[in-house]
Amino acid sequence: MKITELLKDNKVTLSMEVFPPKTTTGFESVNKAVKGISALKPDFISVTYGAGGGTSEHTISIAKDIKDAYDVTSMAHLTCVSSTQETVEKQLVKMKEAGIENILALRGDIPDKSEFPLPGQFHYAADLVKEIKRIAPGMCIGGACYPEGHPEAENKAEDIKHIKEKVDAGCEFLTTQMFFDNAIFYNYLYRLREAGIMVPVIAGIMPITKKIQMERSVQLSGCCVPARFKAIVDWFGSEPLKMQQAGIAYAAGQIIDLVANGINHIHIYTMNNPEVAAGIINSLSEIIG
Ligand code: FAD
Repeated sequence: MKITELLKDNKVTLSMEVFPPKTTTGFESVNKAVKGISALKPDFISVTYGAGGGTSEHTISIAKDIKDAYDVTSMAHLTCVSSTQETVEKQLVKMKEAGIENILALRGDIPDKSEFPLPGQFHYAADLVKEIKRIAPGMCIGGACYPEGHPEAENKAEDIKHIKEKVDAGCEFLTTQMFFDNAIFYNYLYRLREAGIMVPVIAGIMPITKKIQMERSVQLSGCCVPARFKAIVDWFGSEPLKMQQAGIAYAAGQIIDLVANGINHIHIYTMNNPEVAAGIINSLSEIIG
């Protein structure tokens, strides 16, 4: 099923994310995570591409499995930085053959900024969106957006201008980078709409269940951590079970506030952890049922 179809109604949707194994031997634990997360029956599951240390070669097969073996809509991520047109085309043909209908079109992080952009390679996600439309015209295409601005962007206004270019190129919905303060998201959504970006925006929520995870996430994304959440991590961070419970409750609280403010589409960065995903779902059983 196309994700745009899922996002059409006013119903609350909850999507989740898995990443492929970091090494070829890590398959078993990823399969277990995929099975556990699929059993929770989210509206769709997205599969990252080379992010979080995962290898990209398994993205398509995992997305195919989610759809065919577990009967859950899936989305494959695809990055284009450092890729040639030929590599991207090969991936798109493989996706079509696997029956994948949804792609999150991303630039990816630049490995060596001194060499960017290399001639003959893709520069931005918008270029990939155009390529997908050319090679796989029926594909449903999503893109990323950043409530606190992309770390490389000159400023937020420029960043939003480039999001508009991505949407004008054919990106049909956006998923946000994680944020821990919903006010930042509401303000950003207002600015997107003001800029004429009217596609559905899926709010990305990262449950932080370990102190180290927060340090890493903040370092990678540059997200602000509200004092309220900082206090939680400081207080419970050295006690794993308490931290897990507090992190699940914080993420569930963010989701409840989003839904109460009319935001219907939520993506949970489940980080291959079905237990955490289940914890959130259980806290929301009446709200998202
Ligand atoms: P773009 O939309 O191309 O934007 C990148 C930067 O370029 C921004 O600063 C933008 O303002 C600027 N820009 C865009 N167009 C122009 C232009 N014409 N001129 C000048 N500047 C411009 N990474 C992975 O490797 N694998 C994944 O699976 C993955 N999944 C992700 C999922 C989500 C929901 C999110 C939010 C991020 C994900 N990432 C993933 C990380 C992402 O690849 C990085 O954040 C990357 O640095 C930017 O990708 P993008 O698609 O947003 O790029």
